[in-house]
Amino acid sequence: MVRINENYLKLKAGYLFPEIARRVTAFSEANPSAKVIKLGIGDVTEPLPPAIVAAMHEAVDQMANTSTFHGYGPEQGYGFLREPIAEHDYQSRGINVSADEIFVSDGSKCDTGNILDILGTDNRIAVTDPVYPVYVDTNVMAGHTGDADEHGRYAGLIYLPVTAENGFVPELPAEPVDIIYLCYPNNPTGTVATRETLQKWVDYARANNSLIMFDAAYEAFISDDAIPRSIYEIDGAREVAIEFRSFSKNAGFTGVRCAFTVVPKELQVTASCGTQVSLHQLWNRRQSTKFNGASFIIQKGAAAAYSPEGRRQTKQLIDFYMTNARSLKEGLEAVGITVYGGENAPYVWLRTPNNLSSWDFFDVLLSKGHLVGTPGSGFGASGEGYFRLSAFNSRENVETAIERFKAAID
Ligand SMILES: *Cc1c(COP(=O)(O)O)cnc(C)c1O
Repeated sequence: MVRINENYLKLKAGYLFPEIARRVTAFSEANPSAKVIKLGIGDVTEPLPPAIVAAMHEAVDQMANTSTFHGYGPEQGYGFLREPIAEHDYQSRGINVSADEIFVSDGSKCDTGNILDILGTDNRIAVTDPVYPVYVDTNVMAGHTGDADEHGRYAGLIYLPVTAENGFVPELPAEPVDIIYLCYPNNPTGTVATRETLQKWVDYARANNSLIMFDAAYEAFISDDAIPRSIYEIDGAREVAIEFRSFSKNAGFTGVRCAFTVVPKELQVTASCGTQVSLHQLWNRRQSTKFNGASFIIQKGAAAAYSPEGRRQTKQLIDFYMTNARSLKEGLEAVGITVYGGENAPYVWLRTPNNLSSWDFFDVLLSKGHLVGTPGSGFGASGEGYFRLSAFNSRENVETAIERFKAAID
């Protein structure tokens, strides 16, 4: 008899985005002439930078000739990509990360889930609330939790609320935890972590032998020089943190697929037999066995993001989205909405007007403004009363969205 991984039965059936889709479809069917603007899902909308497109075209041509053809590449990624990553993202900023600590992949979503392969099943795991749902669901799938309660909180996970009351900075857990997921700049709240906040977490992890999973998918959107872009800017982080980065948001790669994970060589964990084990070696073993590397063509495209033109063009892309974010933030503030984020991240996180629930406000915006955002409660119980709007859209749509938002809450 076949048995399934019954942990999957504990998952709340992908509630958030399907429910949004259901409500939007119902509205559009009832109002066929309404042109709905979507600032909901965190997906980019602008085309790839030309330097990246040219590099991928060239790579396709290389694949068309015997003398330049590439078959399987290194499982960890090509040196032509790992080296510029190490140089531009880390070393030129004074951060100690070497090319052989970088593992190139086809996405951070996969990496943040797959990393659980090399970790034990009885860790105490902390996540923020609200949270990027992947961290929670992958732990549910791996059997690290019990069932969810009526608020969608899983038994066995430790939830650290991040709300306006604590300035969106998670408090250190009251009980010791072994693994903590931190995402900065944050999805969904669009807020950032200061050096002091991150130092506090690194110190905590060192004192408690814990591991920090640091998701820096949005680091390129940081404009404030005082805000760390990497966890490895923090003293001691190389001993306690894994960092996840992606080309999805900064280079428009959500449909292209390329990312990387940094596992420093200092990151050692004590096995039950008492020996020190290197997570770098375990991840290398895992990737070499279960992954055959990201596509040559795609890695060529990603490497072009570090050429002088590539860097200029990706910066323009980020500036474009950040102008949208600023317009959203200022436009909503002008009508008395309390807005967080939107300064170093492509998301604004707003307090719903008149104490509406997140979903009630969703319905108001959709029916009166023909505008779609994401209810904060969908990211966790502490997101109730908040709402996320994304800056990933055309300028015209963002400007129209602001006007419609104002009219809808009038
Ligand atoms: C978009 C996003 C990523 C990137 O995921 P990919 O699989 O690389 O596209 C990672 N973390 C967060 C929080 C994100 O929002």
